[in-house]
Amino acid sequence: MELEGLVAVVTGAGRGIGAAIAARFFAEGAAVALWDVDGASADAGARRLDPAQTRAAGARVDVTDEAGVDRAIAETAKRFGRVDVLVNNAGILGLGTTAEMTVDAFERVMRVNVTGVFICCRAVAPVMTRQGRGKIVNISSLSARTGRPVPVNYAASKGAVVSLTQTLARELGPAGIYVNAIAPGPIATEMTGQFTPEFYARLTAGRATRRDGTPEDVAQAAVYLASARSDWVTGVVLDVNGGILMR
Ligand code: NDP
Repeated sequence: MELEGLVAVVTGAGRGIGAAIAARFFAEGAAVALWDVDGASADAGARRLDPAQTRAAGARVDVTDEAGVDRAIAETAKRFGRVDVLVNNAGILGLGTTAEMTVDAFERVMRVNVTGVFICCRAVAPVMTRQGRGKIVNISSLSARTGRPVPVNYAASKGAVVSLTQTLARELGPAGIYVNAIAPGPIATEMTGQFTPEFYARLTAGRATRRDGTPEDVAQAAVYLASARSDWVTGVVLDVNGGILMR
């Protein structure tokens, strides 16, 4: 068990990649707070993992709600005694071309995917600083690494997650806090379910592996960055994309 005794928060954990990360962390021995803007799915996920609710707890937390996030961090620290790991996974996809994208639509995606990460990091940093140790894992995207046929608001938001990760790694490193990112390639979830099968095939074209990626592939990378095995790894972006980036 890689995460025995640790306490982790996973945002956007109601489904998809976040749910897989929460489940993998739980299986590796961590206590897990599952947060999602959809409180019912977070709660159901926590109950599925741990019917007794001793080592998993679901909560409705919108990552863009400053006061709500601050409150939820305090509640998690109180309930489980500490917060060792924060996985900033919550994210949304914008659709459409730049020509048809409103500023509102651009900013909506930035608000969740970038400001939400900032709000959660800011809330957890004092707790981890007091502990003298912590690990933050931000979910970026392959679309931040190279031009991809995805909407510009989404790509820009995931690029900002990389800069935020590197800057925070430097700022928080002296406090014993490691900050890294994962850039997954296309993974079949409700998010990518919004694409047509033809478009999804276009996104996965050029992979070097025999199969497509799964939420579990991202979860395994998150375990590494959350565990002591990655001590002295900070400010990196771990590409989990079956080699698509080499295309
Ligand atoms: P899903 O849409 O399947 O799941 C995202 C979850 O985040 C949903 O439960 C959603 O809730 C929740 N969420 C959305 N907004 C908020 C918010 N403001 N506060 C809290 N929770 C919120 O997405 P994936 O599992 O596919 O993606 C997870 C992360 O991985 C995202 O950051 C995504 O950008 C990233 N990613 C995904 C890839 C993929 O191919 N799937 C590839 C690269 C990166 P609800 O829908 O109820 O609003």
